[in-house]
Amino acid sequence: MTKPNRVISAKLNKSTKRLRLVLGDQLNAAHRWFKQKDATTVYLIAELKQEVEYTRHHIQKVCAFFAAMKQFAYALAQSGHQVIYLTLDETAQYPTLSALLEAIIKMHSIDIFEYQQPDEFRLYQQLRNFKQQSLSIKKADTEHFLIPFEAIAAEFKKDQHVTMAFFYRRMRKRYSILMDDGQPLGGKWNYDAQNRHSFKQEDLSNIPDPLLFANDVQDILRGIEKYDIATIGIPAEQLLWPINRQQALQLLNYFCQSLLVNFGTFQDAMTANAQYSWSLYHSRLSFALNTKMIAPMEVIAAVLDYWEQHQRNIDLAQVEGFVRQILGWREYVRGIYWAHMPEYGSKNSLNARRRLPAYFWTGNTKMTCMRQVIQQSLEFAYAHHIQRLMVTGNFCLLAGIDPDAVDQWYLGIYIDALEWVEMPNTRGMTQFADGGIVATKPYAASGSYINKMSDYCKSCYYNVKYKTEEKSCPFNSLYWHFVQRHQDKFKRNSRMRMVNSHWRKMEKHQQNALIEKAEERLANLEAL
Ligand code: FAD
Ligand code: SF4
Repeated sequence: MTKPNRVISAKLNKSTKRLRLVLGDQLNAAHRWFKQKDATTVYLIAELKQEVEYTRHHIQKVCAFFAAMKQFAYALAQSGHQVIYLTLDETAQYPTLSALLEAIIKMHSIDIFEYQQPDEFRLYQQLRNFKQQSLSIKKADTEHFLIPFEAIAAEFKKDQHVTMAFFYRRMRKRYSILMDDGQPLGGKWNYDAQNRHSFKQEDLSNIPDPLLFANDVQDILRGIEKYDIATIGIPAEQLLWPINRQQALQLLNYFCQSLLVNFGTFQDAMTANAQYSWSLYHSRLSFALNTKMIAPMEVIAAVLDYWEQHQRNIDLAQVEGFVRQILGWREYVRGIYWAHMPEYGSKNSLNARRRLPAYFWTGNTKMTCMRQVIQQSLEFAYAHHIQRLMVTGNFCLLAGIDPDAVDQWYLGIYIDALEWVEMPNTRGMTQFADGGIVATKPYAASGSYINKMSDYCKSCYYNVKYKTEEKSCPFNSLYWHFVQRHQDKFKRNSRMRMVNSHWRKMEKHQQNALIEKAEERLANLEAL
């Protein structure tokens, strides 16, 4: 597809009556809206300052969204729809989406305004409050998720823990995926126990290079500079992320052919020694999925088809592990988000109040694990799940960083970050700030977990085996400080019983030394 500079149907058909808004994460070409061309309808796709300024985004994320929106607008216009595409130049004078809508509705004497259900609460609220006299307003489902928006309430109840494992089983049965006569294929619902390998030296050279695109985004970078938009991360003139459906499908195809075979095995593994293969066996499909360029069932079907076509010669554990992420986790966190918003956004059950250390923005820390994950995130706007959960997320949990700050960081830095998926993962899964709506126990771990799943510790200034010495791994003492300071909170949590009992049985002098070291670390978080 060629690069569209400006896609504006400047002269709209005189009979245009209906305006349909397409948000940046609603690039779903299969939506019923687009089935018929209609001279009375115009689609609006707009680069908005409000969307690039609600948090500080990674610069590649801004480029990826704008580039994908342009491509989508171009494809729509090519197939005969009327489209207004507005760049920052044209929208900069409108402080909000509502102000822009008002102006366009007036300018083109629109009678009917339609929008798709936004996935983020703040846009949902903004569009719900948008009203104009004698304007008819209609809302449509995005037709992307497996659970339609209106069905979420029946599946997820407010302030109730819904166990992901049971939700996932229901989804497997409902969609008849990896099922055999009503039972899970292979006899088990979940093959995670087989999926926890770290890399051996000989595995590293076999990791395929990631499939990278080279999309020219120089014009977008100029716009970011011109409008002085504050961003984070390292810019790339050649954007490596997929920006249209064709590229998204290529990425999916590449995943099936080259990565699926080891997806589950190395799903949790981390390494500092795969410079060119930084995304390992992960699909990197999250941006394409979250912008809706591809659909979740389409991804699952492609993986299952590939598996069938190859006589199922890929281990079931790899396939099930991948299907679970999309059929299970992705739909699950969306349900949690909508069942609990807006209160979810201010939950802080562990009363964490510390500031996020400055190295989150630079990667400038002596802790190799943190440096690797943060620097990779700054360079590519990407880190895989365990890097997000067990390195940066775990660190924030142990150090008691304010979940508002943690949320803002995750919401900004990752290419795939949209609040509906970012927040339950961050505030819920990693920070336990929701008090156990998502996780049944906090994902807290000492350095030994990171050492088991990575080679980071080998090149670290700190020593993962030490607990209280000068060069002891900060995760070690902070871990026990976390256990000690939240003992009461978790005393009735059966999954924390062993660790609490371990703490209580520890010699007093050992406890004191650990707490003293942790206090010292906490007082000097910036210097770690
Ligand atoms: P793969 O490992 O190849 O997995 C395939 C797909 O499964 C992903 O593309 C994604 O769509 C889905 N998936 C996997 N895990 C999850 C999950 N826990 N929740 C929802 N979907 C999942 N994912 C986002 O899409 N946006 C976010 O803003 C986001 N923030 C996160 C913040 C934290 C603290 C954590 C721990 C996880 C977060 N995740 C987020 C989930 C997960 O880390 C990413 O989806 C994944 O790393 C994206 O890379 P990938 O496409 O290579 O995934
Ligand atoms: Fe991270 Fe500790 Fe290992 Fe260093 S020693 S890489 S800080 S876990």
